[in-house]
Amino acid sequence: MRRKLVAGNWKMHGGLARNRDLLQSLIQAVGKGGKSDSAVFVPYPYLAQAQDMLKGTAIAWGAQSLSEHAQGAYTGEVSAAMLVEFGCRYVIVGHSERRSLYGESNETVAAKFLAAVNGGLTPILCLGETLAQREQGVTEEVIGGQFDAVLQAAGVGGFANAVIAYEPVWAIGTGRTATPQQAQDVHAFIRGRLAVSDPVLAERMQILYGGSVKPQNAAELFGMADIDGGLIGGASLVAQDFLAICAAA
Ligand code: PEP
Repeated sequence: MRRKLVAGNWKMHGGLARNRDLLQSLIQAVGKGGKSDSAVFVPYPYLAQAQDMLKGTAIAWGAQSLSEHAQGAYTGEVSAAMLVEFGCRYVIVGHSERRSLYGESNETVAAKFLAAVNGGLTPILCLGETLAQREQGVTEEVIGGQFDAVLQAAGVGGFANAVIAYEPVWAIGTGRTATPQQAQDVHAFIRGRLAVSDPVLAERMQILYGGSVKPQNAAELFGMADIDGGLIGGASLVAQDFLAICAAA
């Protein structure tokens, strides 16, 4: 039985005072742990605050991206080792906003995944198709290509300590959620793709769903056989909503 993980991606939202209130609410409710795991992904400047408040609790924290490089003349970038110094356990890799707004190719995402793994972090690898791609019937081709680029760079061993998130681009921040069956179908496809290389690892791989998860739809999504929790954007900024989603897991 895979444990469920509920991960809150704050994106570029927050502020010291607001974060403190939100984290305090989360600590009170789920800080001692429970049947599922939880984590928050804060903007880089708030990692120290997250570390300070969350250390010793059951809530993990991480960053929303990282550099594929270990160090050097890469202005504005942050390395895996720096994230580890701030106690990060996880890092999101290949979020669709990074792919579409910052031009991260499958190869760049693969290099970042590898940098995370080599740095001792657990990458949450995001895969997802656009609406046009779904309508053209190439969802599996797109997801397969995104996945294969990482498999090629990191090998199946690179997935030993990783999490995958299926995030249909058309469902992120749009209020339009994939139906539980649509999500389940893609999750089963991803698990099957990994099983070709390592069936045992595929069976224990946590595959999260992300895209307009709300308290109202979380239980149904998380009830599907291959959905092992969620990557939550908007709803992770409201303590009551995020906690309701954690409870659904
Ligand atoms: C996300 O940011 O990864 C996400 C899924 O956002 P939302 O829950 O707002 O759709």
